[in-house]
Amino acid sequence: MSALTIAQQVSALHQYFASNKTRSLDWRKEQLTRLKGLITDNEDKIYQALKQDLGKSEQESWVSEVGYLTGDIDHSLKHLHKWSKPRSIATPMVAQPGKSFVQPEPLGTVLIIGAWNYPFQLLLAPLIAAIAAGNCALLKPSELAGATSSLVAKLIPQYLDNQAIAVVEGGVEETTEVLKQRFDHILYTGGEAVGKTVMKAAAEHLTPVTLELGGKSPCVVASDCDLAVTAARIVWSKWMNAGQTCVAPDYILVEKGFAPHLIEAIKTKLQDFYGQDPQQSPDYGRIINDRHFARLSQYLEGQQVVYGGQQEAGERYLAPTLVMAPEPDSALMKEEIFGPILPIVTLDKIDQALDFINQRPKPLALYLYTGSAATEQLLLEDTSAGSVCINDGMMFMANPDLPFGGVGNSGMGHYHGRWGFDTFSHLKAVMKRSTWFDVNWRYPPFNSKKLKM
Ligand code: NAD
Repeated sequence: MSALTIAQQVSALHQYFASNKTRSLDWRKEQLTRLKGLITDNEDKIYQALKQDLGKSEQESWVSEVGYLTGDIDHSLKHLHKWSKPRSIATPMVAQPGKSFVQPEPLGTVLIIGAWNYPFQLLLAPLIAAIAAGNCALLKPSELAGATSSLVAKLIPQYLDNQAIAVVEGGVEETTEVLKQRFDHILYTGGEAVGKTVMKAAAEHLTPVTLELGGKSPCVVASDCDLAVTAARIVWSKWMNAGQTCVAPDYILVEKGFAPHLIEAIKTKLQDFYGQDPQQSPDYGRIINDRHFARLSQYLEGQQVVYGGQQEAGERYLAPTLVMAPEPDSALMKEEIFGPILPIVTLDKIDQALDFINQRPKPLALYLYTGSAATEQLLLEDTSAGSVCINDGMMFMANPDLPFGGVGNSGMGHYHGRWGFDTFSHLKAVMKRSTWFDVNWRYPPFNSKKLKM
């Protein structure tokens, strides 16, 4: 698509928003219902695209993309009426008689830029929130997940209101052109470097942004945890999508004496889940492209691999891999791994985890496995993270009433459920005064008697 066409398309979306059609609750409900139809009618095609892009199994694609999205649509349809109603606010004495409320209103035309790792979910979950809030939207799927990108570009015009929702496919060139346009909000999911580019472009138009970024999410395992359950949940959350998950546990922090027990338990669960040879498992994914495969492969150079490490570049297969005690200044411990390698960092005392975490950028997610309420309290009070999950990995994502978003370098703003509705709404403050009673103390001319009132 040429630059002119992108500009024209965005301008058409702005014009359509001005018609007020997207403000009506009926329109929003109809579009959400159609979006659900798009997903359910084309489930097999979606699975095929995700298999092609990331080697995902159907079950995993259902849990993390298809089922997730249809659940999100149902939740939004159920609560839309309540979310969009004026929210009553107390009015102070000084403004009596009167009433105050917050009236959510759509922002206008929003831009949603998706990432490749959950290419369907990360594009359409923000769209659900944008539609629920009554906006027009331009979608930019990630070019790295090409099969999903073209499927979305084909299906959206078939199901949704074309005048309100459009898709632009492409990479850096197209996204750069898109970012020159004026939007009323941008929600970007992806890495930190491009997040800065998006924010700079948004600043030109004073457009607010939600940045869903990543980072290294620590996983603290205390020796008083339930070992078998802990291992199962770590393996599930780390190796789903071959570790290419923004909220996957990036590395483990564990006491030296307990580390061998944890490693054994993780190995056992890996074999239970993916068999002796995960390359043959239909449930184990592949790395998105050769560049990311080479990056991950380099992380392993010079490291002490205690499990896995097998690679086959042609298939972009990298086995579930455990690395023991990596150097803190190695690339493996400095960059977000975003792949199937799990470093085990050992500590003398579990309390040292706090300093380890606090000396690094604030993570998107923080995991703690423990049976101790005191350890839990310590970690919750003395560290900062986008989300915290205690005694599980990633399950907080299953609660649509929890906000999802980062803090510091892991992002800004949030969405999911009503939080997403609010992100794509302007919360307009309204005060309505009565006129039957009017004291004159605030009106000039002032005198000492009035000031004392
Ligand atoms: P990516 O390469 O798919 O890029 C994301 C989007 O940015 C794409 O649509 C792409 O076209 C666009 N883009 C790339 N380069 C650009 C440029 N120079 N100018 C403008 N746009 C550009 O994804 P990625 O960055 O590899 O994603 C991985 C990162 O995303 C990880 O850090 C991960 O943690 C993070 N992530 C975060 C979340 C979240 O919800 N917080 C979810 C998934 C991934």
